[in-house]
Amino acid sequence: MLSLSTIEAWLSVLISPKKNANVIFLGGEPTMHPNLPGAMRKARELGSTSITIDTNGYLFNDILFKVGPDDVDYFSFSLDGATPKINDAIRGKGSYEKCIQGIKETKAKGFNASLIYTVSGQNIHELGIMERLLEDLGIDRFFIQVIGIRGKAAAESAKGLQIPRSQWLDTIPEVAQKISRHGITVTYPKVFLGLNESFECAGVVADNYFIFPNGRVYRCPLCEDFPINSLAFMGTKLIDTDGINEKDLFGLTIPEGCVMNKLIQPGNINYKKDGTPEFKIACCLLKEEVRG
Ligand code: SF4
Repeated sequence: MLSLSTIEAWLSVLISPKKNANVIFLGGEPTMHPNLPGAMRKARELGSTSITIDTNGYLFNDILFKVGPDDVDYFSFSLDGATPKINDAIRGKGSYEKCIQGIKETKAKGFNASLIYTVSGQNIHELGIMERLLEDLGIDRFFIQVIGIRGKAAAESAKGLQIPRSQWLDTIPEVAQKISRHGITVTYPKVFLGLNESFECAGVVADNYFIFPNGRVYRCPLCEDFPINSLAFMGTKLIDTDGINEKDLFGLTIPEGCVMNKLIQPGNINYKKDGTPEFKIACCLLKEEVRG
């Protein structure tokens, strides 16, 4: 577990009012860290544009009693089903009830709440009925994610979880539009790009830092399972790492779009008879936003 002084020092390297820094504390479960309130206050003091806490809803360490709505922009909850049956089959028994209870307590105390729904073959059929639930709970922002299925073995054991392109395109943009009509801003990844649509890698065109307690700092979340981080904290200094690393992948151009997707989760790409891909895979970090 990182000490508060280390967290503060690392935040000081990355946040300044000039940088338009959006800070997300995530895990694991960040509310398990007893010094989360101190870390949030430091992020605020340094001038971060927004602060979000990603939580499973258990809200450990009485976090709602230790910070106020001025300390945080969003508590962001994860729910992977509109009903206990579907959500708990994915996230564990009792997790639906705990998450809903956490959202209600959070909203009752005057905080903003967002919700993340990771779409797979197991729960896409319940996405349509999230609309009512989101409105009833007073959710301010809704994030649709796509399930990541990594490696051949994972793809084999997870058959049926991957969403085909046609189903994704037929379902997600329409659901996002519908939900946004309730004043809820909806964000979702494009995932599949037509061959004529332009592809961009966030490692080249954006500025994201994924920071781990062991000091590794990645620019791409798909690289996190491998020791190819392009940056690292040494003490309180952020340094560039030596040797081949994720940055060497960002500039490569392949017909499939995202290089890391092709390397670690190629099961979502289809090919024509001539061996060329039918479509490109978009960067998982660059999202569509439908304003509520
Ligand atoms: S997900 Fe793919 S496109 Fe996005 S930053 Fe990583 S390598 Fe680049």
